[in-house]
Amino acid sequence: MSQEGKINVAVENIFPLIKKFLYSDHEIFLRELISNATDATLKLKHLALIGEASVEVGEQQIEVKINKEEGTLHIIDQGLGMTEEEVQKYINDIAFSGAEEFLEKYKDSAKDSGIIGHFGLGFYSAFMVASKVEILTKSYKDEPAVHWSCDGSPNYTIEPGTKENFGTEIILHISDDEKEFLEESKITELLTKYNKFMPVPIKFGMKTETLEKPEGAKEEDKAPTKEVDNIINNPSPAWTKQPTELEDQDYKNFYRELYPMQFEDPLFHIHLNVDYPFNLTGILYFPKMTQDLNVQKDRIQLYQNQVFVTDNVEGIVPEFLTMLRGVIDSPDIPLNVSRSYLQSDGAVKKISSYITRKVADKLKSLFNEDRKAFEEKWNDIKIVIEYGMLSEDKFFEKSDAFALYPTVDGSYYTWDELMEKIKPTQTDKDGKTVVLYTSNKEAQHSYLAGAKAKGYEVLLLDSPIISHLMQKLEQSKENVTFARVDADSVDNLVKKEEEQISKLSDEEKEALQKSITETIGDSSYSVQVEAMSSDSAPFMITQPEFMRRMKEMQATGGGGGMMGFGNMPDMYNLVVNGNHELVQEIFNAKAGKKKDRLIKQSVDLAKLSQGLLKGEALTQFVNRSYELIK
Ligand code: ADP
Ligand code: MG
Repeated sequence: MSQEGKINVAVENIFPLIKKFLYSDHEIFLRELISNATDATLKLKHLALIGEASVEVGEQQIEVKINKEEGTLHIIDQGLGMTEEEVQKYINDIAFSGAEEFLEKYKDSAKDSGIIGHFGLGFYSAFMVASKVEILTKSYKDEPAVHWSCDGSPNYTIEPGTKENFGTEIILHISDDEKEFLEESKITELLTKYNKFMPVPIKFGMKTETLEKPEGAKEEDKAPTKEVDNIINNPSPAWTKQPTELEDQDYKNFYRELYPMQFEDPLFHIHLNVDYPFNLTGILYFPKMTQDLNVQKDRIQLYQNQVFVTDNVEGIVPEFLTMLRGVIDSPDIPLNVSRSYLQSDGAVKKISSYITRKVADKLKSLFNEDRKAFEEKWNDIKIVIEYGMLSEDKFFEKSDAFALYPTVDGSYYTWDELMEKIKPTQTDKDGKTVVLYTSNKEAQHSYLAGAKAKGYEVLLLDSPIISHLMQKLEQSKENVTFARVDADSVDNLVKKEEEQISKLSDEEKEALQKSITETIGDSSYSVQVEAMSSDSAPFMITQPEFMRRMKEMQATGGGGGMMGFGNMPDMYNLVVNGNHELVQEIFNAKAGKKKDRLIKQSVDLAKLSQGLLKGEALTQFVNRSYELIK
């Protein structure tokens, strides 16, 4: 006794629409069908648990099978199955989501059962790859089996089936242009991508397992083997467990499971676990970071009830945390909306700030529990923390508890410790505390040596975004300014040494300044003659801190782009120590070739120590030097 009918949709032919618009990725059909099979399995488990289904559920599994001869792909579950009435209702009325109805009906008891579906269109994604779809199903209720079949036109047939055990088998007759879905390797790939952590064991084929050799076996005897089900997933991944159930090693093992190609252990992990006001679980890992901000994204995987959704979590986790790795699982993230909408969604905002807070708390406790270990990791994690301080105000506020400021000598200070340390000695004429730093110990060596000789504390700040962060610190901390060791503002530091008596009068200084300016003939250098102690360098090149930093900030994006600092030529100060013997000699030399040569040679030496002597100028300098020593 067979019936015929038409699927209840307003649009005469919905299939071309599904194929085109429902999902841009054809491959997700398998995820949808396995989600349905999982739902059916979990539903039955739940009904059995609350005593509404009187069946033996046992160890249920889902099986995926390829039949090459028939050109079919089978998804078989041992879930609750469907009666004929239910097939009519759930399959024929497209977009009537059975999952949602189930959750509505069993609201309170089913909340934690992990049921996946909610769009009510998942099943029809099968038509993206199949020319014909069959459902063989038998309900756990004592009712006849059903056989539903549809060839892709809106016409279906429904007739009594022969299935004996409860559960459902979906048969896809793969279309000619989608034959790749009959390849074992393709299906394995999809199952590992989308279903690796789904809660019901998924069997795909068999595999050979090696057994222990029997007692008394000889060396050359082969170990016996056994064919076993090839289960492709881990139904209870670490993030679904309580942190108290897990050891450090379990977290590391799970990291391996997520990133099989990653050989280095993560530095530490953060277990996320909330159920109010939204549901979210997950584990985030801090891997060793490099300095490159761009290569490290797309490594956090987003799941919903253990179904893989995407590895693009932009808009869901704060940008600075997209450099981390790990898993986030939340059924509360709306995914059928655009990414730009996501960012304005209230629930997503809450999720994002929860994650930020958890990360800050974890960093704080790591710092407090073992400061030394934390300091050792600083270089590998600072990029994330500095980026976070820069981009998230909440994180910035909390960062005082764990952000470190390393000195060139290998000490690590918190902000408060740093201030306490340098306030008494590093203050400028305006009463601001000056944080001295170098971005490159080698390149700025002579300046660094100068600063250290004066007893100053110098930080080593070398992240690509550090100039932005300094700007932010200067704005939000009171009375603080940063100066690179070769910056002109270092001169503004209140000198600890005695005021020097100038060996040159003001007129003489002016004359010297004029003749040096004329000799070097380069308008990007402004010459100033100062009275410094006679053992300070005779010539020194400094750069305005502000200008240099603006240029750096433009190079790394953002920060005063409108002001066009990027186009400005570099500006330098040539500081001449009027009290130095060499400078005295230059001053006293008669105008002419010798004087010019002395000035040129000295200025070139100053440039050389700042890494500014290049190309033809460098060649000339070298030639001139040979002339001088021969
Ligand atoms: P959703 O999963 O969002 O509810 P689907 O289109 O994926 O929507 O499925 C529609 C309905 O069909 C499901 O809610 C469920 O009631 C029923 N269904 C689909 N697949 C199965 C299955 N394998 N076993 C039992 N019922 C199923
Ligand atoms: Mg579904």
